[in-house]
Amino acid sequence: MTNTTVSFVTGQRGAMKLKYDNYTYICVKQLKGRKYWTCSKQRSRKCMARLITDLDIDKINARNTTHNHPA
Ligand SMILES: [Zn+2]
Repeated sequence: MTNTTVSFVTGQRGAMKLKYDNYTYICVKQLKGRKYWTCSKQRSRKCMARLITDLDIDKINARNTTHNHPA
């Protein structure tokens, strides 16, 4: 997992968003030691991009970074 640039931004109501490759993701669920993130534009754009990380978010376990919109 080199050249990964993950950072965090605090969105409305203090919700933490993950920023990856200039796209932002919202944590939708946490299950079995993993966090599931969907693109923050999922609702408005029906974007299907998503990430799965471990709980500490220092590792991305799976990703679909095909967005149907610009960052
Ligand atoms: Zn997207």
